[in-house]
Amino acid sequence: MTIHKTDIIIIGAGPAGLFAVFEAGMLKMKCHVIDTLDFIGGQCNALYPEKPIYDIPACPKILAADLITNLEEQAKPFAPVYHLDQRVERLEKLSGVVRVVTSRNTIIEAKAVIIAAGCGAFGPHRPPLADIEEYEGKSIFYLVKSRADFKDKKVVIAGGGDSAVDWALSLQEVAAKVSVIHRRDKFRCAPESADKLKKLANEGKIEMVVPYQLEGLKGKNGQLSHVLVKDFSNNIKEIEADILLPFYGLAMELGPIAHWGLGLHRNLIEVEVSTMRTSEAQIYGIGDIITYKNKLKLILSGFAEAATACHDIYHLVYPDTPLHFEYSTTKGVEK
Ligand code: FAD
Repeated sequence: MTIHKTDIIIIGAGPAGLFAVFEAGMLKMKCHVIDTLDFIGGQCNALYPEKPIYDIPACPKILAADLITNLEEQAKPFAPVYHLDQRVERLEKLSGVVRVVTSRNTIIEAKAVIIAAGCGAFGPHRPPLADIEEYEGKSIFYLVKSRADFKDKKVVIAGGGDSAVDWALSLQEVAAKVSVIHRRDKFRCAPESADKLKKLANEGKIEMVVPYQLEGLKGKNGQLSHVLVKDFSNNIKEIEADILLPFYGLAMELGPIAHWGLGLHRNLIEVEVSTMRTSEAQIYGIGDIITYKNKLKLILSGFAEAATACHDIYHLVYPDTPLHFEYSTTKGVEK
């Protein structure tokens, strides 16, 4: 049984977790980073990679995916070890160290753990359709990584929220055809987006399939040919489809974190704001998962929290060496 040893274990490879790698590295601490997803970036890459973000300091406009690429680049000199596609299941205190065990049985021990788990582990709300597993990852997707994947495809989008409408507006520019299935003719999205959708539907650029619900799938070897939909009188019709994107929202479950004995308040971890310590020694929290008075769930807050946590953790990793505060301009990026 291999047990990895490091200074800090970071649970969650979202923006807060990635920046913590950099901050730790500047203080000569090594990190292992774990995420349930098989890619880094948390909500930025999972939910809105191609959307521009406007409130990152000194970046007037940056695509969410590019922000993550930059954070990865910034962390690189400190050689973080990523353990992706696995969920942290257990957190145990041993003498002087914290041990983390993942769903793939990866075991890591460290002086401290930073929980940067956002809203918890992601999972899509999957429509209850027969044989859906056969198509998932081949012609049914719950998130869009790149618009280019949908070029000249017949895309069926199901759902009535922001994601469904935003992606219908965006993908109609590249896809051969976009059909939107929704059980009502009202959409829960920004009014400007609803207006744009209506306009494109009137121009024949988007097919509206309302009020209908998903009923079944037709295809072979994981490749869809048609999506079956049903109205309220149980009339069924078939829509040609290469790809189905069901956008019924993401279930974010706190999962095992709820059982780690941390002071949870409405599913958020309470921290002491000058250190980011949780109620358990050696365990810290940063980013969207934490709460304190006037906490802002913003990426920039997560960055500052990462810096605060790492400066406090330094004393656990180097108990005999005082921390002399230095600017990055003074010390540069040392390995
Ligand atoms: P997350 O990004 O949520 O990442 C947490 C990671 O932890 C996830 O990858 C998850 O899989 C992982 N994880 C959870 N539990 C476990 C476990 N047990 N084991 C392993 N891994 C686990 N913020 C802004 O500042 N500006 C904006 O303009 C902005 N726009 C947004 C637009 C949209 C559509 C959305 C949805 C959010 C937006 N946000 C914006 C919010 C921003 O994305 C979040 O504040 C930010 O992602 C939080 O970062 P984080 O690192 O704390 O957590």
